[in-house]
Formats: sequence, structure tokens, C-alpha cells
Amino acid sequence: MTTLRFACDCGTTQWSLANAQPKSATRATCYCTDCQAFARHLGHAGTLDAQGGTTLNQCNPADIQLHQGADNVGVLRLSPKGLFRWHTTCCNTPMAVTAHSPGVPFTSLLLAPAQGDVDAALGTDQALVNVGGALGEDRPAKTHGMGRLVRRFILRAVRARLNGDWRKNPFFHPDRRPIATPVVLTKDERDAASTPQVMGV
Ligand SMILES: [Zn+2]
Ligand SMILES: [Zn+2]
Repeated sequence: MTTLRFACDCGTTQWSLANAQPKSATRATCYCTDCQAFARHLGHAGTLDAQGGTTLNQCNPADIQLHQGADNVGVLRLSPKGLFRWHTTCCNTPMAVTAHSPGVPFTSLLLAPAQGDVDAALGTDQALVNVGGALGEDRPAKTHGMGRLVRRFILRAVRARLNGDWRKNPFFHPDRRPIATPVVLTKDERDAASTPQVMGV
């Protein structure tokens, strides 16, 4: 069983994904404008691919572990009801996206667009979703694998609810409070982050 290890840009914060195999997780690229705005707001537009895509891995929250620097984890929301978007506070590296409560075990670990060990463990077949937000000439014309992504999320979520794995979410305390206080972007911050800047992203 493969465990992938990740570190933020400055190396202070470290986390991992256990059970890293195509059977247990679904890799996807999301082109939605919210994912792009999150990366830009953090000053990490470089984590987007050339078409503005965010590479993510939908997985069981219990498979994610924080190893070092849990104090350096922050969470922001693009709007008052937006998803929880997790990042490090030491160097603003994007980490993950979750629902606002661990009771909904929707968890996507954010990945760099291309990483050899990640490709080897999770495979390279990716669902392509929200392609309407893709940028540039070479943007994908149509969504791919959306049905599979949704089906597999539902299966994972049901299983996590039944076996209690949903409680082992490293981004939430046992009483369901998030481990960091959510920060909601102001409209100005959100507007600034929604504007493509460099090289079309
Ligand atoms: Zn860091
Ligand atoms: Zn997205």
C-alpha cells in the first residue's frame, strides 16, 4: 500500500495520503473559477496547469494525516457559504478542499499538476470537470469522468459514514470544529483573485 508524502514550499508543514491507489481515490482536474481564485489569492497560480486547472485527488479523509506543522494550517472560504479551502500559513501552499463539516466526508487533496510518484500511485487518468472555466486555446472541450467522480464520492462517503472513518478527518477536531478559524474573503479580495493574471492563468 502506497503512502504519498507532501510538504509545503518551505518544508515546515508536512502531510501524507495513505492508501494511494486508483481504487481508493479519484484524481481529477477542476477548471472552476473558484479553485483558480483560491490559488491566485495564495500567490500560488503556479500550481494551476496551463489551462487554469487544479489537480486534485478526492479521497477518504481518514487517509490524510498531518505530520508536522499542524499549527501552520489555515482555512479560507471564497464566500460565507463556500467550501473550506485549506492551505499552510507558513508559505501559503494550497493543501485541500473539504466541506464545512466532517459529517460530509467530501475531501480533495490538492496536488501539483505533474508529479512522478503521484502519477505512479494514483494513475494518470483524470476526470476533467467544470471545463467551462478553463482558459486558453488548448482548453479541454468537454467534461470527462464526471459521473465516475460523483459515483465514487458517494460510495466513499457512505462507507466512511458507516464505518466511522469520517471522524478521522485531520482538518477537524473530534467535536467537529475546524482546526483553524475560517477566513472569508472580502468581495474585493475575491474579485482580485478571480482575474487571470500571468500567462492566462
Ligand atoms: Zn511552508
Ligand atoms: Zn474547482
